[in-house]
Amino acid sequence: MLKIKPFKKPILITRPILPDLDEVRNEIEKAWKSRWITNNGFRHQELEKKLKKVLKIPHISLFNNGTIALMTAVRSLKLSGEVITTPFTFAATPHVLSWNGLSPVFCDIDPITMNIDVDKIEALITHQTSAILAVHVFGTPCDVKKIEMIARRHKLKVVYDAAHAFGVEIDGKGIGENGDMTMYSFHATKLFHTGEGGALASKKDEIKKYIDVMKNFGIENENKVSTVGINGKMNELQASLGIVVLKYMKKEREARKKIEVVYRKNLRDMDGIELLPEFSGVKKSFQYFVIRINAKQFGRSRDFVYQELKQYNVFARKYFYPLCSQYGCYSNLPSAQNNKLPVANAVVREVLALPFYGGLKIEDVEKICDIIRSLKK
Ligand SMILES: *Cc1c(COP(=O)(O)O)cnc(C)c1O
Repeated sequence: MLKIKPFKKPILITRPILPDLDEVRNEIEKAWKSRWITNNGFRHQELEKKLKKVLKIPHISLFNNGTIALMTAVRSLKLSGEVITTPFTFAATPHVLSWNGLSPVFCDIDPITMNIDVDKIEALITHQTSAILAVHVFGTPCDVKKIEMIARRHKLKVVYDAAHAFGVEIDGKGIGENGDMTMYSFHATKLFHTGEGGALASKKDEIKKYIDVMKNFGIENENKVSTVGINGKMNELQASLGIVVLKYMKKEREARKKIEVVYRKNLRDMDGIELLPEFSGVKKSFQYFVIRINAKQFGRSRDFVYQELKQYNVFARKYFYPLCSQYGCYSNLPSAQNNKLPVANAVVREVLALPFYGGLKIEDVEKICDIIRSLKK
């Protein structure tokens, strides 16, 4: 017998912002009237302008998805050989390197932030290393200062995967100002979305122009194709959706902030449960609410809690399970061996992302916490 009544309807990990359909229709109508539905149309130009301001970044180029944006970043920077990255990320991060003919080199992660461990990067640098590809996991900023120092010392490029870090700021500065380029994902499961979509932040006008040529097959003008490009363009329907979703962002973040307060209040003092670290001066994304379950202290493993929650119709998520270094396509790499990644291997058994979206009722959040409390041994 379950101690608490299960939810009548499944509670999923996230729910995309779905704006009023008439508002979306009005926005799309503008594209219809112009008969211009892709190729840098007016909706696309407007969304770029708006996002540049919201994200506080010097330049932005919109893409059809985050993966192609990251592919284009890596290609535009002409990386070669090996790139040091984290095993604790979504499949897209190392796959982008492989699709560009590069070898991912996995670096262990920091036990607190769960981002790449900056103190372990330098030992992995060889003559083949051309860059560091770091991920702001769950929106927690990487140690960007230390990474920049290492990159300067060894003449490496730096690319950030900010798929989790929409709107994150450090001391009032956009997270996308760091490194050579920063990728954002606008997939429906992310905080801000265009259904599918993404973007690249860059620092100089001529680099943005180059990215824009790259994402349009390398076509420089009517008479000239100057480089091996790809089709990475965001179309007008995606951009229209984005313009409307952006109007809902403030409300969504405020709702999530309230939900996070309730989760934190209930779980903070539960023995064996750890919450994401908070840093002064960092504006958070509110994309995920993540806990770590220490099986020894909690008396139950993360996997047990994950399975039990399903009985109550609560669908949490094991992030990022399995580690990228455990995929068949990477597990033979020297850097992928478990004994070289002790922290990542421990963390991946502890992390659980709980349901988190603006429409989640406070009483339901309280109930999810009660269920977790009842599972403790
Ligand atoms: C979502 C995500 C991506 C991929 O973005 P898409 O827009 O889905 O291609 C890449 N990296 C991380 C960490 C992600 O969470």
